[in-house]
Amino acid sequence: MGYSGFRVFWEGLTGNRGWRPVWREPEPKARYKVLVIGGGGHGLSTAYYLARNHGITDVAVLEKGWLGSGNIGRNTTIVRANYFLPGNSEFYSHSLKLWEGLEGELGYNVMHSQRGLINLFHSDGQRDAFVRRGNAMAAQGDDAVLLDREGVRGLLPYLDFEQARFPIHGGLLHPRGGTARHDAVAWGYARAADARGVDLIQNCGVTGIRVENGRVRGVETTRGPIEAESVAIVVAGRTSQVAAMAGLRVPIESHVLQAFVTEGLKPVIDHVVSFGMGHFYISQSDKGGLVFGGDLDFHPSYAQRGNLPMAEHVMEAAMTLMPVIGRAKVVRSWGGIMDMSPDGSPVIDRTDVEGLFLNCGWNYGGFKAVPASGWALAHLIATGAPHESAARFRLDRFRTGRGLMDEEGTGAQHHLH
Ligand SMILES: Cc1cc2nc3c(=O)[nH]c(=O)nc-3n(C[C@H](O)[C@H](O)[C@H](O)COP(=O)(O)OP(=O)(O)OC[C@H]3O[C@@H](n4cnc5c(N)ncnc54)[C@H](O)[C@@H]3O)c2cc1C
Repeated sequence: MGYSGFRVFWEGLTGNRGWRPVWREPEPKARYKVLVIGGGGHGLSTAYYLARNHGITDVAVLEKGWLGSGNIGRNTTIVRANYFLPGNSEFYSHSLKLWEGLEGELGYNVMHSQRGLINLFHSDGQRDAFVRRGNAMAAQGDDAVLLDREGVRGLLPYLDFEQARFPIHGGLLHPRGGTARHDAVAWGYARAADARGVDLIQNCGVTGIRVENGRVRGVETTRGPIEAESVAIVVAGRTSQVAAMAGLRVPIESHVLQAFVTEGLKPVIDHVVSFGMGHFYISQSDKGGLVFGGDLDFHPSYAQRGNLPMAEHVMEAAMTLMPVIGRAKVVRSWGGIMDMSPDGSPVIDRTDVEGLFLNCGWNYGGFKAVPASGWALAHLIATGAPHESAARFRLDRFRTGRGLMDEEGTGAQHHLH
């Protein structure tokens, strides 16, 4: 079903009775060529690009809840390509280019808004680090503009420029950075994958992975066994648990990250803004709510909800940077389970089990990666070779120590980031 202004107008006049569900609810078949475990952003985009780029349509996505019930529908929606290190840099650059054509590609409004992202800096040392990052972004072909204090004040006059503890020295503006409507991204990929023949099977939890003689044969699910030639584990915060079903121990820890939204306000924040001296980032949604988040909860957990100590931590950073936010009422907060890798960078790779693939380690930042991640994993499954944009996302870097991508400069250990 296509969407058009005329269609919306017509349905409005006729009681909205003509809309149909945009994907089917098929019963699982006994056998597929490819099974994708996890109906989040990465699982859905993998299925879509398997069909779209490689003509592989005998594919099912198995989701234990409903499509989009995980992190894809829980994030703060920031999309950017401002990574520093080789490996990440080319991957996120590729992803942003896919974002820029995504609405036309999917025939679905994902509300991609390139409103500009500003990372603030508060010391000379931090400015130097941002200059290096900006140069790396420019070298990759992406955009970066260094702003001085007055440049930031002109764009973000509501910040606290008077406070002495964390004075704002300037910011790195990434004009093509911005936001997108997270649920719509899941729905858009789901609809487009379904239209190409992919089976999207909701309420179908994977409870076991069948491996015989070192080769994957299929999975056990809450709706019965399903055979497959290839199986991809794309379950974000549940990666360790699902990988263990195939006897694999993966270097992923699960932690809660929470986010907050205020009541709807008139337009006040035109950009995405990120504090440089505390973990706090904010943008304004199209409905007017201020959407913001902060740091990870460092206690490992599978709880999909937040807690008060982290809420206090985030509010403290918010009030430090923009005291005006104290006037707004927070109406909701929620949490999602992050798949934290030791070096803060992802994995898109095959495993030691033949036919079994792994997509994980998205840390706090996998929403922006959704298009390129699905593109790269589909390429790996279909061709057997890593896609050039994701060639460094190897699992064995944690075993050998070679090729680690410590993007945050925190050291390649779980407990440091
Ligand atoms: C509060 C918050 C803020 C964030 N902000 C940003 C941001 O601004 N920008 C950004 O780029 N990223 C952000 N992220 C990170 C981003 O949302 C994630 O990295 C990304 O969504 C993870 O990939 P996914 O969409 O495939 O995960 P999910 O949506 O979590 O998909 C995994 C799916 O697997 C399913 N599953 C698990 N186990 C099984 C099983 N046994 N059988 C079947 N299905 C199973 C789950 O139900 C789930 O639906 C944020 C995350 C959170 C929580």
